[in-house]
Amino acid sequence: MESQQRSPLLEVKRNIELKTPLVKGPSRLPLPGSRLKRGPDQMEDVLEPAKKRTRGVGATTKIDTSRSRAPPITTVPQTQGHTAVQKVPKKTGPRCSTAITAVLKNQKSVPSVPAQKPGSTAAPPMVGGKKPSKRPPWDLKGQLCDLNAELKRCREKTQTLDQENQQLREQLKESQQQAKALGTERSTLEGELTRVRAQAEQGQEQLGNLSARVLELEERLGTQEGLVQVLQKEQLELQEERRGLTTRLEEQERRLQASEAALSSSQAKVASLQQEAAAQAALLAERGDRLHGLEMERRRLHNQLQELKGNIRVFCRVRPVLAGEPTPSPGFLLFPSGPGGPTDPPTRLSLFRSDDRRATLSGAPASTTRHDFSFDRVFPPGSRQDEVFEEIAMLVQSALDGYPVCIFAYGQTGSGKTFTMEGGPGGDPQLEGLIPRALRHLFSVAQDLNGQGWTYSFVASYVEIYNETVRDLLATGTRKGQGGECEIRRAGPGSEELTVTNARYVPVSCEKEVETLLHLARQNRAVARTAQNERSSRSHSVFQLQISGEHAARGLQCVAPLNLVDLAGSERLDPGLALGPGERDRLRETQAINSSLSTLGLVIMALSNKESHVPYRNSKLTYLLQNSLGGSAKMLMFVNISPLEENVSESLNSLRFASKVRLPPSPGPVRTPWLVVGISIPTSSLCLRGGDIYQKNWFTFARHLAKHYLPGFFWGVGTVG
Ligand code: ADP
Ligand code: MG
Repeated sequence: MESQQRSPLLEVKRNIELKTPLVKGPSRLPLPGSRLKRGPDQMEDVLEPAKKRTRGVGATTKIDTSRSRAPPITTVPQTQGHTAVQKVPKKTGPRCSTAITAVLKNQKSVPSVPAQKPGSTAAPPMVGGKKPSKRPPWDLKGQLCDLNAELKRCREKTQTLDQENQQLREQLKESQQQAKALGTERSTLEGELTRVRAQAEQGQEQLGNLSARVLELEERLGTQEGLVQVLQKEQLELQEERRGLTTRLEEQERRLQASEAALSSSQAKVASLQQEAAAQAALLAERGDRLHGLEMERRRLHNQLQELKGNIRVFCRVRPVLAGEPTPSPGFLLFPSGPGGPTDPPTRLSLFRSDDRRATLSGAPASTTRHDFSFDRVFPPGSRQDEVFEEIAMLVQSALDGYPVCIFAYGQTGSGKTFTMEGGPGGDPQLEGLIPRALRHLFSVAQDLNGQGWTYSFVASYVEIYNETVRDLLATGTRKGQGGECEIRRAGPGSEELTVTNARYVPVSCEKEVETLLHLARQNRAVARTAQNERSSRSHSVFQLQISGEHAARGLQCVAPLNLVDLAGSERLDPGLALGPGERDRLRETQAINSSLSTLGLVIMALSNKESHVPYRNSKLTYLLQNSLGGSAKMLMFVNISPLEENVSESLNSLRFASKVRLPPSPGPVRTPWLVVGISIPTSSLCLRGGDIYQKNWFTFARHLAKHYLPGFFWGVGTVG
């Protein structure tokens, strides 16, 4: 019976025991909605009465204070009193335990019922707080009924508790999930807290930095404020200045406006001037063309004039009697006037030679022989250097126009050749010779022609030919005074141009440079003296100036040499001189000089006679000058004569030599380049171009024809076309 009675109760109890831990679990969890609101202290206050009560019955209460955010949960023992349980928050385990405890109390009291005697004072069991009606001990049936009723109630209660238990389990599960979620949330929050702390630390650090920065900025602000004050001061000054500038600007603007007005009027003027300038330029171009045409015409006419005067001309110059020299007898030399009277420049010279030897031999009084000579021009002893130059200036112009020019000074030693060519001693400008005057004239005319578009350049060389050896008179340094190193060569294979090897060719552009060169040449002249004179008189000095002109705009060029030659003394060797070793050398010298001078005469005559062979190669002098002789080249020979009677023989020789090379001037004025020559006997008539005829020495040709065909020959000059 006990086992029967106990079976349901024990079952219930066991269930309760088994389920209690389950109830305990969730009870530890924080209650939803309350956990965050309550702090640990509050929880202690709540639990404090329960603790006091449980101590009294030996029960243990565990409070987890370590978790601040989850309030501790009170574990309710099985033996906990109903009153204590009542204080625990609603729907927790203790409520259930209270009911179970009440049942158990009732159950325990059942076995003791039979042992109780009727009439014992033991109180009947209380079920549900309702005291059962007291049955007499004998009323077993009634008691059984009560017990059954009690059992039924207990079962119902158990059911209710099971349901509650189930609910509590669900709640537990829910709470666990919540706890899990809260755990996750917590870790998240902890992470967040860490991050926030880190941020806070960072913020703190930034704050520190910012504070430093603030201090720095404050400092800078102070500086800036100071600066601002300075700037404000400056601004004030600038404003003042600006006001001044504004005033000036206004003034300038006013002026500018005035200037603009002036400018616009000037621009109008400029435009009109430009138009004028364009017209002028066109006119200028036209005039330039005309000028060029005129210049070319001038050149042509100039050349024609020179050709009419004769491409080969001979001037005679008689030097004055020098101090200390015997005065020649009056009438020794005469200078008859020209056809135009005394105003005409003299062209004739008469020399009277007394034949003393014949008179002495025959015993008769000494007779005089008159020798008449005619030249292109004769300069009596009083002639000045500039007068002489005037006559040759036209030839120098020809050189600039592109015609080769050769000027020789021929005569015996001491007749005044060097004086004529280079000038007198002492650097007197009045006594300047042909070379410096010619070069000055060239530079000046070249300068004038520059305005017409011509550009000229000049290259000078100065050589000496002694005993058929060529020597550079412009040599400097170690080569100074040495001879025989120079050779006359063609400038290149097939070239007509001749050059002297090892000789200096010096570009010159002003008189000063030429003076320097002449001075150097004088120094370089041979110093060896001969029995009669210094070596310079026994050698030919050739000053060559290569003239190159270019008219770039019109593509014109003219190149021509100007040669100024101071020939060696033409005197013969004195036959009375004893032939010692020195004299033999002198004889060789003289032979060389005579040979070269006679070659020069032959060359000139061959050119005059238009001979096919011109013996240029027979002497170094003619070989060197071959390009400046013949053709359209102009040649002028000065025959220098001594005024002394003692030199009459040499003077006569010189005059005869000069007469040989000089040709009579062309007849009459020729106004046209065409010359018609007709021969009556041969049926054919000959028509030649004037230039060709001049080149072939038409006068000689005409004379030749007149001699042989005189009856039927006529010649005439007229305009053709
Ligand atoms: P060359 O060169 O023919 O040997 P120079 O020119 O040396 O002769 O002249 C000989 C001298 O005569 C020099 O003293 C020179 O000054 C002088 N003489 C020559 N011609 C003249 C002249 N026209 N007027 C003045 N003196 C002259
Ligand atoms: Mg001389």
